[in-house]
Amino acid sequence: MSTEIAELHCETCQRVTDHELHYTGRLLESTRCTECGAHLDVPARDMLPTYLADLEQRVASKPLRLWRRAGQDPRGFLRTLPGAVLRQPRKLAGELRSIFRH
Ligand SMILES: [Zn+2]
Repeated sequence: MSTEIAELHCETCQRVTDHELHYTGRLLESTRCTECGAHLDVPARDMLPTYLADLEQRVASKPLRLWRRAGQDPRGFLRTLPGAVLRQPRKLAGELRSIFRH
């Protein structure tokens, strides 16, 4: 288990706060808001297509290259996402922030 910190929009706080990103190995497992403690589980591999379809529906008004790619290739997405997070935490946090804000 390892932990990264990233700024994400918290639905409970209604603003951008520091979130702990919990990794099991190289896979993102959950996030936790450091302000209010709101916990979000990242769904298991098998649940991912359903989760992404739901997420895409909720944010359908925004162009979502990232999530489209994930929907088309969930396994490849899971393999590459943690690396992308570690290499470009600011950039990815910004993309996630713009997604979760709407
Ligand atoms: Zn919060």
